[in-house]
Amino acid sequence: MNKKYYLITLGCQMNEHDSEVISAILENMGYLAAMGPEEADLIIINTCAVRKKPEDKVASLLGKFAALKNNNSGLMIAVGGCMSQQVDAAKYLKERFHHLDLIFGTHALPRLPELIRRAADKKETVIDIKEDYSDREGLSVAHSGSFKAWLPIIYGCNNYCSYCVVPYVRGRERSRSMTDILVEARELADHGFLEITLLGQNVNSYGQDLPGNETFADLLAELNRIKGLERVRFMTSHPKDLSNQLIDIVRTGEKICEHFHLPVQSGSNRILEMMNRRYTREYYLNLVGKIKTAIEGVSITSDIIIGFPGEEEDDFLATADLVKKARFENAFSFIYAPRKKTAAAAFQDNTTYREKELRLQRLNEIQHQVSKELNSLLTDQTVELLAEGPSKNDPEVQAGRTRTNKLVHFRSPTDQTGKLIKVKITEARTWNLVGEPVS
Ligand code: SAH
Ligand code: SF4
Repeated sequence: MNKKYYLITLGCQMNEHDSEVISAILENMGYLAAMGPEEADLIIINTCAVRKKPEDKVASLLGKFAALKNNNSGLMIAVGGCMSQQVDAAKYLKERFHHLDLIFGTHALPRLPELIRRAADKKETVIDIKEDYSDREGLSVAHSGSFKAWLPIIYGCNNYCSYCVVPYVRGRERSRSMTDILVEARELADHGFLEITLLGQNVNSYGQDLPGNETFADLLAELNRIKGLERVRFMTSHPKDLSNQLIDIVRTGEKICEHFHLPVQSGSNRILEMMNRRYTREYYLNLVGKIKTAIEGVSITSDIIIGFPGEEEDDFLATADLVKKARFENAFSFIYAPRKKTAAAAFQDNTTYREKELRLQRLNEIQHQVSKELNSLLTDQTVELLAEGPSKNDPEVQAGRTRTNKLVHFRSPTDQTGKLIKVKITEARTWNLVGEPVS
């Protein structure tokens, strides 16, 4: 009988994609997906280290899984991903959770089959958190969807924003070759995928480490030519490297979706400098203006950190003011969490957590108002959706996304999942829109 695996993914899209690679590795080894942890022979948690919450989640999950091991001595428990890649965290996991069989980092995927075999033979925890960037190109992907897919184009990050752990857990920037990316994109299109989302910590630095110095805009221009593909998305864009050439190809490339995820992090020049973001609020607002002027109907979303060490009321007000001026479709705001090894972890921080929570609330109120206003502009317009599936409670109520990545609910008696359809927007809300299909 085949063994079964249960895989839990925390964190970002890159992690979700890594989990698709892990699933393919396990399926090639003969494992089948389990419906729940109780029926699994192998449980893997693919962890996140960007903030504290996902790290705490790992401890609570491992506590729960320890109980399963009492009834099933053959059960193997493994922890992978960004949290395990950190030496301190790996040590903590090993000491605190004696039932752990395997700890592997973000660079270990090509070695996973061998690591699992070793863990099965060994009494003590097997650990592989080497920082060697072994080649992932040969690895297959078990896509979790059938009409939209993740496609990584660059791994790692060189930017060292002072608050961020990513460069430490994902290593230096490595662009995949344009040929490898195009081959994968064509294969996806041949298999009926309509939408791909290109992934990278900073897609705008794509190609800088390649011998031909291809740019991200060059890559988009090539992807735009692939028959069968209808939508190309990408994230994340670092504002400091966003080129005019990129704005141009998003404007002209009919498959390239009109959406930028352009994290600003703060609206205060003093804080931006301490964050090592390497742009000013004036530069950022000018860039937003340039994108909005060049590309009709474009949407811009952002990430913001509240309560960075040393953030005073004035700095916060500068961020609030930027949010009013930039008019993001949506902004994801997080309260700053110190991360080991990062420069900011040593910065003096005198603001109470309560004050930070209040700032977060104030900022969210401003953003929600803007989101609602921008959504209202779409009322009575007809937009194209890629339908993503029916709701749990009522199969006639279905959801889809616009090219600008807005969520739209609509009613249809037939299942439209995986199809491109046109709907007329009838109602605008803060988080989503409502529309009805038009023929
Ligand atoms: N590469 C992407 C971001 C990766 S992390 C970029 O450059 O934008 C995703 C988001 O998490 C960041 O944009 C930031 O807003 C938030 N984040 C990262 N480190 C954080 C920390 N230490 N505390 C709080 N939020 C953080
Ligand atoms: Fe982190 Fe900055 Fe790199 Fe984004 S660009 S992953 S925030 S260091």
